[in-house]
Amino acid sequence: RRWIADTWDEATASLTGEQASHLIRVLRAQAGMEFDIVAGDRVWHGIIAGITGDQVRFNLVAEVESDPALPVTLLLSVFKFDRMEWTIEKATELGVERIVPVIARRTEKHLGQSAAGRVERWRKIAHQAAQQSRRSDVPVIEDPLPLKTAAKREGEAVKLLLAEQERTTTLRRALVESLCLEEGMTGCDELLPVRLAVGPEGGWTAEEEALFDSEGWKAVSLGPRILRAETAAITALAVVAAMLE
Ligand code: SAM
Repeated sequence: RRWIADTWDEATASLTGEQASHLIRVLRAQAGMEFDIVAGDRVWHGIIAGITGDQVRFNLVAEVESDPALPVTLLLSVFKFDRMEWTIEKATELGVERIVPVIARRTEKHLGQSAAGRVERWRKIAHQAAQQSRRSDVPVIEDPLPLKTAAKREGEAVKLLLAEQERTTTLRRALVESLCLEEGMTGCDELLPVRLAVGPEGGWTAEEEALFDSEGWKAVSLGPRILRAETAAITALAVVAAMLE
């Protein structure tokens, strides 16, 4: 297991809160014991330098090669909370780099209203899932954005809109063509990051699809069956992971 530092500098790091409490009470951590510490986007072998109250301090002794996140951002329409939480957990396990919760036209009203602590809870879930799957980083979970803003501000990337009515282009094909994944292909850029947008339970409206289109997003299919939003999100990420890793 890797432990995610709350604060760090070039030579030291410290953990507080639940992680520190687990180290102290469950693992009986003591000075001199070694653990892997994630500090920002780097991973280190850390040796406990001291424990004070609920804080564990480490000296960072050697850097461990870190595993990069999948270069994928997921624009995820906010849907029912238990399923949203499940999706954030699974997307983190699959390596997603960033999740942007979006409020679409058909996002149920009460889900679109900001409930205190909800985003914090999503961040906590991502944090725990990153630890559990031994990621060296935690995906960024942004504050929810109106769809229009979210669709417009994603810069140069392979921008793919998951759309159940799409019949011609599969996600797989779009990735092959945009990232030159087959031999001899030219005119595409294999280093571009990927953006995936998954719609709400009621799907995208025609106006939203037109907006995405005007912002350079390409509609792609995951096959002929209509998937629930969370299945679509996780399937799409699994396809990207299988093709890029
Ligand atoms: N009404 C169902 C529900 O309650 O979950 C279906 C939701 S589906 C309309 C939600 C989103 O999943 C869509 O907007 C789309 O982004 C994605 N999706 C579902 N099936 C898909 C497919 N076969 N291909 C591409 N995207 C799909």
